[in-house]
Order: sequence, then C-alpha cells, then structure tokens
Amino acid sequence: MAYKDKADEKSWYQRNRERILAKMKQPESADHRRQVRRAHYAKNKVVVLSKIRAYQSANKDRASQWHRKGNADYRERLKNLVYDAYGNSCACCGETERAFLSVDHIGGGGRKHREEVGIGSSRMYRAIIESGFPKDKFRLLCMNCNFAIRFGSPCPHESEREYGISVAC
Ligand SMILES: [Zn+2]
Ligand SMILES: [Zn+2]
Repeated sequence: MAYKDKADEKSWYQRNRERILAKMKQPESADHRRQVRRAHYAKNKVVVLSKIRAYQSANKDRASQWHRKGNADYRERLKNLVYDAYGNSCACCGETERAFLSVDHIGGGGRKHREEVGIGSSRMYRAIIESGFPKDKFRLLCMNCNFAIRFGSPCPHESEREYGISVAC
C-alpha cells in the first residue's frame, strides 16, 4: 500500500492499530514473516552476508565495546536488585563491602544451582529475581563467612554469637 505522506500512513495505522497488533500476534503471521525473511535471505545470501561483514568490520571495536558494556550494565542492574533485596550486607557478620559479598545458596545446593545457571551471571540474578527473592533459598555472604561454611560447618561467627566465644581474625 502506498501513502501520500507519513501523516496519512500514521493515521491509517492509528485507525487500524488494534487489528494490526492482533494480526502480528497470530502465530501464522509470525511464521509467514519468518518465511519471508528466510526467502529474502536465501535469495540474497551473498549480499546480506557481505553487508553484515562490512558493517561488522567497520564497527568492530565499537560494536564489541557496546556489547561488553551492555552486558556489564545489565548484570550490574540485576545484581543491584538482588543485593538490595538481600540487604546489601553479609547475612552472617553484617559486612557491607560489596566487593566481599556474594550470593549464597542456603543449605548447599549452590553448586547445582551454579552449574545450572552459572555463578555471578545475569542468569543467576534473573533466576533469583524471577522467583521473588526467596529469603529461605538465598542470602548474601562475605568471603570470610562463605569460606568458613564451605564444607558444611557453621561459621565461627555463629558459635561466637551462641556461646560468646570470640573469633580472632
Ligand atoms: Zn560475613
Ligand atoms: Zn560469619
């Protein structure tokens, strides 16, 4: 369909917005679009690939910088949400230095979870966020406390609190 000008096209879109969006959501229509894209690619493979390569090599540094920065920002945002939800401090000793803190999977199982999603990864943070920050499954621990409990023994801080035994650092 051709339109006299952009405004025409826009008002047509506004009038038919609901219908268009409903159609976009139909699986057949997505299939169709995929087929059109595939057919275009198959027909113009050489051109498409060379365009992509030309773009990539022209923007190599920039693109990889964006990519890295984008990922780091994203991870940092997820991490902030998780750390905020868990109080930004070690659940055992209260350490607040962020560089010392990491997410602990309560009651072990950490290894399994890490294998599933990858430690310190966006995916781990996302899994925690999506499950609603369960306080019985995760907590923040500092490296000291984490290290102390790694074989399943309680953190020395715990006996300190329970029996008044002081721990020398
Ligand atoms: Zn601690
Ligand atoms: Zn501790």
